Amino acid sequence: MCEDMKRSVIYPGSFDPLTNGHINIIKRASSTFDEVIVSVAINSNKSSLMTVDQRVKAIKKVFAKNKKVKVDKFEGLLVQYAKSKKVNTILRGMRTVQDFEYEMQMATSNNKLNSKIETVFMVADAKFSHISSSLIKDIIKLGGNAEEFVPEPIEKELKKILKKG
Ligand code: ADP
Repeated sequence: MCEDMKRSVIYPGSFDPLTNGHINIIKRASSTFDEVIVSVAINSNKSSLMTVDQRVKAIKKVFAKNKKVKVDKFEGLLVQYAKSKKVNTILRGMRTVQDFEYEMQMATSNNKLNSKIETVFMVADAKFSHISSSLIKDIIKLGGNAEEFVPEPIEKELKKILKKG
C-alpha cells in the first residue's frame, strides 16, 4: 500500500437515533483512521422514527468540529456503495454475542460479494455496551428521560418528532 494513501473507513448503520455508543465508536475510529464516513442506510423495510435526512443532519451537528468525520447516506448493497466511495474497509461495533453472530454473517457475505472488502470491528466500551437505538426509542415513546444515552440535541429532536407524530 502506498505510504501516503488516506486510510478511510465506512461506518454504516441505521443510527435511528445516533447514540452515545455510536459516538464512542466514531470518536475512537477517528483516531485510528484518517477519515470516517458515517453512512445512514436507507432501508424502507425497517420502521424508523427519524427520517434518513433528519438522522444525517443530527449526526453532522454532533461531529461538526471533527474534520475527520463525514456523514452520508446510501441505498442498496453496502459493497457497491463502498466501491463508489473507493473505500475497502467497513467498520462495525460489537456489543454482545448476538451482535457477533449477525455481524459475522454480514462480514462474510460482504467479503464474498467483493473480496477486497474487509470488515473491522471495535468492541463496545463497557460504559455504552447496553445502549441500543431501539432501547432509546422505547424510553422516549414511554415518556422517559434518555439524556444518559444520547446527546442532548438528539433527545430534543426525538421529543419534537414524537410530539408531531
Ligand atoms: P444496524 O441496523 O445496521 O445494526 P445500528 O445503528 O443499530 O445499525 O448500529 C450500527 C453499528 O453500531 C452496528 O455495528 C452496531 O453493532 C453498532 N452499535 C450499536 N450500538 C452500539 C453501542 N452501544 N456500542 C458500540 N457499538 C454499537
